[in-house]
Amino acid sequence: MTRRQRIAILGSTGSIGVNTLDVVARHPDRFEVFALSAHTRVQALLAQCERHRPRVAVMGSAAHAAELAAAIRQKGLPTEVLHGPAALEAIAGDAAADMVMAAIVGAAGLAPCMAAARAGKRLLLANKEALVVGGAVFMRAVRDGGATLLPIDSEHSAIFQCLPEDASQWAGRVDRVMLTSSGGPFRQTPLADLPRVTAQQACAHPNFVMGRKISVDSATMMNKALEVIEARWLFNLRPEQIEVVIHPQQIIHSMVQFRDTSVLAQLGAPDMRVPIAYGLAWPERVESGASALDFAKLAGLTFEAPSRARFPGLFLSWDALRAPDGTCAVLNAANEVAVAAFLEQRIRFDQIHGVIHATLESVLPSAPASLADLMALDERARGAATVRVGQLTRQKQPQ
Ligand code: NAD
Ligand code: MG
Repeated sequence: MTRRQRIAILGSTGSIGVNTLDVVARHPDRFEVFALSAHTRVQALLAQCERHRPRVAVMGSAAHAAELAAAIRQKGLPTEVLHGPAALEAIAGDAAADMVMAAIVGAAGLAPCMAAARAGKRLLLANKEALVVGGAVFMRAVRDGGATLLPIDSEHSAIFQCLPEDASQWAGRVDRVMLTSSGGPFRQTPLADLPRVTAQQACAHPNFVMGRKISVDSATMMNKALEVIEARWLFNLRPEQIEVVIHPQQIIHSMVQFRDTSVLAQLGAPDMRVPIAYGLAWPERVESGASALDFAKLAGLTFEAPSRARFPGLFLSWDALRAPDGTCAVLNAANEVAVAAFLEQRIRFDQIHGVIHATLESVLPSAPASLADLMALDERARGAATVRVGQLTRQKQPQ
């Protein structure tokens, strides 16, 4: 076998990061940790450095980095500690890294993803917001840099596993893709109760433990909206070729329908280590740590169409894909601001959609052609969404 593959994990202390380290640790003959990163959680990153002994660790701020560096010195570990966005770009593009796991949440992950793309890495993409914001600019960086972009989002991994290995055959064979969704924790909550749901209820996902932002996105189905946009870029599909179906058991992770109407699906336990292991080892397959399905024990697999009244945000994705370039970046920024405001109890759950809608109405994107253009547009959309959140907060009636 060839030498071990060296991996940089951006956002290693998050849900995807921890699952990635779990799979990596099962295969010490194949993988080696080159770099890890965390935004604020010093102790969590320190524990990962002790266990995985990376060459570099990156924290969000100088203060957090100083704290980590002191602890690393005390323990006599070999890890160099850096901090800030430039350091994330540096580890993502470092010649010593073969693979980059993009597991930061939000548009904050775009710049390091672009660095990995330009440097021609094998880029394992969990950070869907980066592709939603980056769109054509991101895909051009992947192509020009000679990078290999592999999906980690379970739906896109499922689709990727159903498609022929030779991507040049996709366009000729695929009719449509069906992204499955659990429907989240409020699939059956009476609509009249949605204004009162709490962040804690929104973060109690039926099948997965995930970061708080993606948990709220699953509850609004904005997660699926982002995934529709993600699928458009990963598989070069037209918006009308992408459909969404609610499948509460989360056993089928997504499906592809081919020209002859034959449908292929990928099945498995809802465990992110499966798509992570696939991305790490592709085109090979390695043990993931997930439990195998027991078909005799599976109750029914059910499907339903998503309701527009319950999940209005989902339906914005197709419109955004047909709108001028940059609209998806505005959609994403507005959603990030709205979700943060909901988690901080500044707006209600049912107001998240209103913030996104108002932002899309007020920000006209100017076709972004570079990373700098995208960051500026993201900033502008965040400003507009923050204004809208402020208006709603002021209107809030005292309880
Ligand atoms: P999380 O909140 O658990 O972890 C986020 C990680 O990013 C942490 O390590 C944190 O330190 C780091 N981070 C946060 N903000 C940052 C910033 N501004 N700059 C640098 N680092 C920052 O999130 P998660 O659930 O692991 O999700 C990560 C990404 O993967 C998201 O884009 C999410 O949509 C996607 N994803 C997650 C799952 C899942 O099951 N959790 C499934 C599919 C896709
Ligand atoms: Mg997903």
